[in-house]
Amino acid sequence: MEQSCKTKNKIAIIGAGPSGIYCAINIILEFNNYNYSDYFIDIYDKSQPLNTLLPTGGGRCNITNAQSDLRTFISNYPRGEKFLYSIFSRHSNSDTINFFNSIGINTYSEDDLRIFPKSNSAKDVKNKLLNYLNKFNKTNFINKKINSISQLKNYDAIIVSAGSKTSENILKSIKQPYFEFKPSLCSLKIKNNIYPKGVSVKSLDGDFIFTNQGISGPLIYKISAQNALKEFPYQIKIRLFEYSKLKELVDKYPKKSIGNLVSSFIPKSLARVIIKDYSKNACEISKKELESLCSIEFCAIGHLKGEEIVNCGGVDLDSIDKNCKSKIKNNIWFCGEILNIDGYCGGFNLQNCWSGGYIVALDVVKFILNKKGIKYV
Ligand SMILES: Cc1cc2nc3c(=O)[nH]c(=O)nc-3n(C[C@H](O)[C@H](O)[C@H](O)COP(=O)(O)OP(=O)(O)OC[C@H]3O[C@@H](n4cnc5c(N)ncnc54)[C@H](O)[C@@H]3O)c2cc1C
Repeated sequence: MEQSCKTKNKIAIIGAGPSGIYCAINIILEFNNYNYSDYFIDIYDKSQPLNTLLPTGGGRCNITNAQSDLRTFISNYPRGEKFLYSIFSRHSNSDTINFFNSIGINTYSEDDLRIFPKSNSAKDVKNKLLNYLNKFNKTNFINKKINSISQLKNYDAIIVSAGSKTSENILKSIKQPYFEFKPSLCSLKIKNNIYPKGVSVKSLDGDFIFTNQGISGPLIYKISAQNALKEFPYQIKIRLFEYSKLKELVDKYPKKSIGNLVSSFIPKSLARVIIKDYSKNACEISKKELESLCSIEFCAIGHLKGEEIVNCGGVDLDSIDKNCKSKIKNNIWFCGEILNIDGYCGGFNLQNCWSGGYIVALDVVKFILNKKGIKYV
């Protein structure tokens, strides 16, 4: 049931994903700071709240990243970098972790700085966030798809946090400038896929895996994000191992086969595919050939459909203010993946959701309190 209390301030959130739910929680916390309770929040979602959190981090939910240097943190976003300085300065990864700890989601950091819940369970994160939100009894969940902003009447503030997959119609109905959504973090199809399927490789540039249709894994997602706006086909070159290390082995074991020596650095099944003269003595291989074995090149011919982890595109950052408020409509805000911001793997995309949700929440509260003549500091 949609609530219809005339005196209360009405807030709508479209999309109960991580950004929308975090925003709702922070609206409530901020209103509580002002002892203000004359409002309610309708949360619209075509599916169920926080279902999109369940597959994150392979079911473990890579909540954020522990990188403490802001500049380095932000270098992990191929799009949105400048805008995020302001957002993360106001709500950082450590603010997020403190909040999660405060609601009973304790975290740990992997060696590569990815942060996970100690439970290793995205379901646990989902449940704890929703239990926390529901205990305030200030939200009303409405299971409905929104196609146009005109479906939402008489709201004081509307937050659009509908992600990147089915939100274009909403943006069109607002006349909000946006860039077409395109796969950013995504597996890639490659030409001449002769490689051993299911084999994973730890390269100098990062980890990747050969799949039935192409290549995947964190490194491939990064490459796909960097090239998200490029047309296919394009060439990819991955540095597999150091030439100096191979040369060292060749000098030490000149009579061993080159295949055997290269297999010290990469899986044997891959070495068999990429080395023409696998059994030839290492000392018989020219310097040029040795150098060429240290890297691998692919021709990327397309994205693997349905395997997008994150899309780029979305709301043009020039069309919103620093609080993610629309410059087109006075009472509309955006947060999360609907913005033209995307990050690499490592917890960066969810951090965009948490920080954006928080910033929007505070601005919405300020907007409503100001309208009521209550000073917001
Ligand atoms: C398999 C997978 C693993 C991932 N793992 C990680 C990870 O470990 N760490 C990380 O940082 N990021 C990860 N990501 C990315 C991260 O999940 C997203 O960036 C994040 O979910 C975006 O949150 P959001 O709230 O902006 O949008 P979404 O999560 O997409 O939520 C949008 C919500 O809006 C609803 N909605 C959409 N359109 C409408 C409409 N028209 N009307 C009503 N409701 C609508 C949807 O049902 C959904 O509930 C992963 C993504 C995938 C696909």
